[in-house]
Parts: sequence; structure tokens; C-alpha cells
Amino acid sequence: MKEFIEEMEKYAQEYDIPIMQKEGIEFFQKLIVENHIQSILEIGSAIGYSAIQLARLDKAIHIVTIERDQERYDKAVENIHKCSLESQISIFHEDALEFECDELFDCIFIDAAKAQYIRFFERFEKNLKENGVIVSDNLSFHGYVENPQKEMSRNLRQLVRKIQKYIDYLKENDNYETLFINKGDGIAISRKKSSVVIK
Ligand code: SAH
Ligand code: MG
Repeated sequence: MKEFIEEMEKYAQEYDIPIMQKEGIEFFQKLIVENHIQSILEIGSAIGYSAIQLARLDKAIHIVTIERDQERYDKAVENIHKCSLESQISIFHEDALEFECDELFDCIFIDAAKAQYIRFFERFEKNLKENGVIVSDNLSFHGYVENPQKEMSRNLRQLVRKIQKYIDYLKENDNYETLFINKGDGIAISRKKSSVVIK
């Protein structure tokens, strides 16, 4: 399994596929284990790397993951099959903004088009269990978000503004308690506040 993980990392590098960075995935794995998370909805599978890295932690973990790109979806299906994780990972070839689902999850992982994070958050928060967490990746976007004075193209600047807007959205969202973790490419952990507060 370890060799296959490395193979996927190499493939991602070669074909420029933005899979989660090592430090980020290790942090995420720890979060899953420590919080006994067993069900995850992932927005943006790419080649299935993060889904496989999480599913292999425990046989009880079940992941629903969505990918809109045909080639990446095909590769993810192949990778999931090679790891014999089909019973734990259900993958859908669809645009997440059209994906209908009424299942509830312990964790929702937002890792698709960075400009659409608020839309993903609002579409899928209904699928989060009480006390569940929403994890968002790439909030640093290669350091551009922290250094907006950096030279960048118009498109990139627009993207960075959208990510900044999402960060503000999380900070201002009183229904969640959000922690920003400076690991990998920047990760946010938003925990849904319980409706009943017991002191
Ligand atoms: N989670 C993966 C990396 C995902 S990269 C990992 O860490 O291994 C982001 C992926 O989201 C890309 O493959 C892109 O095609 C997909 N994506 C972007 N917008 C999407 C949308 N609206 N619906 C589904 N997939 C989307
Ligand atoms: Mg990512």
C-alpha cells in the first residue's frame, strides 16, 4: 500500500494534479482518528488520493466523493479498485453543485474549485451531523493569500480574493467554531456548534 501511495504522489506531480500535501494529509488523518470520524463527504476527488489515504485508516470509515473531471474520475476509480477500497469509497462523476444527497456525515471535506467554497459550504452543510466538522483545504493557496502584495495575474488575484472572502465568511459564521491550521496548504476546521450548551 505504501508503494502505491507513493506511485499516486508521483503521478500527481507528473500530471500537475493538486492532491493534498503530505503534511496536510497527515494532519487530516490524525483529526479523523482522534475524533472517531467514520463518514466523510468529499467535494473534489481528483485521482482518489485523499479518499484512499483516509479510507485506509479504518475499515469502518465510509467516504462519498465527487469529481466532475472525466479523466480524473476514471483514474480515481482505477486507484480505488487497485486498493480494494470500493466497499468503503463511493465515487460519483458529477458537478458537486448539482449533486443531490440527503445522507448525514461526520465530516465534509471541501477541496474542489477554490472560487466556489461558499457555495459548497452552503449546499452541503445540511449534510453535516450535529457536532460534525467541515474541513476546507488550500486556504493559503501557495502562500498567495497571506501575501496579497505578491505579483500575480488577474485571474490569480481574483481567486485569492475569493479565498479571502471565504476565510472571512468562516470567521463571521456564528454557527461554527473555525480553527485555521497553518499546515500543508492551509486547512480550516469548522466545528458545528451544538444547539444545546451544557456548562
Ligand atoms: N481531494 C483531492 C484533490 C482534489 S483537487 C486530494 O487531495 O487527493 C480538486 C478537484 O476538484 C479537481 O480534480 C477538480 O476537477 C474537482 N472539482 C472542481 N470543481 C468541482 C465541482 N464543482 N464538482 C466536482 N468536482 C470539482
Ligand atoms: Mg487541496
